[in-house]
Amino acid sequence: MSALPSAIANAPPGTSPAPPGTSPAEQAALDARYDALARAERLLPIKITGFYARKLDAEVAALGHTDGPLNRAARPPRERFDLAAGHEVADWVDDRSNMPVPGSTAIIHKYPDRVLFMPTSVCAGHCQYCFRQDVLTDQHEAGRTRVPAELDALVAYLATRPLVREVILSGGDPMTLPTRDLALILRTLKALPRPPAIRIHTRTPVFAPKAVADPERVALLAEADVRLVLHVIHPYEICAEVEAALLALRRADVRLYNHFPLLRGVNDDPDLLVDLITRLDDNRVRTLSVYVPEPIRFSAPYRIGLKRLFALQDAFVAAAPSWVNAVRFTLDSPLGKVRREHIEAWDEARGLVTFAREGRRFVYPDFPAHLDVPGDPDVMRWRQPGRPAG
Ligand code: SF4
Repeated sequence: MSALPSAIANAPPGTSPAPPGTSPAEQAALDARYDALARAERLLPIKITGFYARKLDAEVAALGHTDGPLNRAARPPRERFDLAAGHEVADWVDDRSNMPVPGSTAIIHKYPDRVLFMPTSVCAGHCQYCFRQDVLTDQHEAGRTRVPAELDALVAYLATRPLVREVILSGGDPMTLPTRDLALILRTLKALPRPPAIRIHTRTPVFAPKAVADPERVALLAEADVRLVLHVIHPYEICAEVEAALLALRRADVRLYNHFPLLRGVNDDPDLLVDLITRLDDNRVRTLSVYVPEPIRFSAPYRIGLKRLFALQDAFVAAAPSWVNAVRFTLDSPLGKVRREHIEAWDEARGLVTFAREGRRFVYPDFPAHLDVPGDPDVMRWRQPGRPAG
């Protein structure tokens, strides 16, 4: 490690410098403390696959602490317990108000042409920054068996909505479903009189790549012409095993995409973004969007102010090769997806940004600049040649 991590050197005036790295023993205590917080506040518990745990261990071995990017995404950082920015809510994307089928929390319909279907609340691993913790925790508590009953509800609903052209399977992670259930969903949708396009959002390829590369499951995805949208957040999530899974999918002609949130201390560095997005492109994975992390409860350790986000976007666009630099930087909002060009007014004194789209407006509570301590590039890119580690 450098004598003075740049996160400390760059701390905005008026903020306390970050203390030294979190030791493995302190992290174990934070993990235990988080278990209690998760139960009390209805957050997702820590869940890490054996495959991903080996990456976390390698990161700790190299850095000597647990503040590395992958650990920070999977285990609670110190600030998880008490850093808050105000205006943070349980359900920012407003899933609950967009569940049109009485008794079902698996069908979410916000846009005329597409429906979200959440056939499971289970993910292969849990992400500390997950924006859907509230609804997923509900579903975990309800212990719902979602297939086939929820699929029947979806089919009945689609019959009444002729404008829907796409069904997005998300969750939870649909790639954790048993093959039998996945097959039932895909074949049922493709057998409809107006078969929708099917998209699946998944992080299973980075948590358990062999489960995705299973030949029967790959064949199913290919048969249903699925678009698979990965949520890879950091270049160190891509290794030989993950690339082998992506190759198996490509060989079957499954279309691969990525989108991911820009997370403070995990990937808020333009060179890292270039590495991630070009590495995915090398694997024939097209990155569609970089997301602003939503202002949900307990998300402040990961949030980024819009000014810094746009500066990162500009630096990324300047540094990235032309075949990847058109990636959109997007905020999910009550108006749908909004971007920089939708900003109508910016009240810097109150930290409120007004977005306008198609005649509608909404006010976004920006993340305060004094809390927006950038991630340390030496830590986030600890494998880079010449960077100190260990
Ligand atoms: S895999 Fe997706 S849905 Fe599951 S915890 Fe992570 S971000 Fe949330």
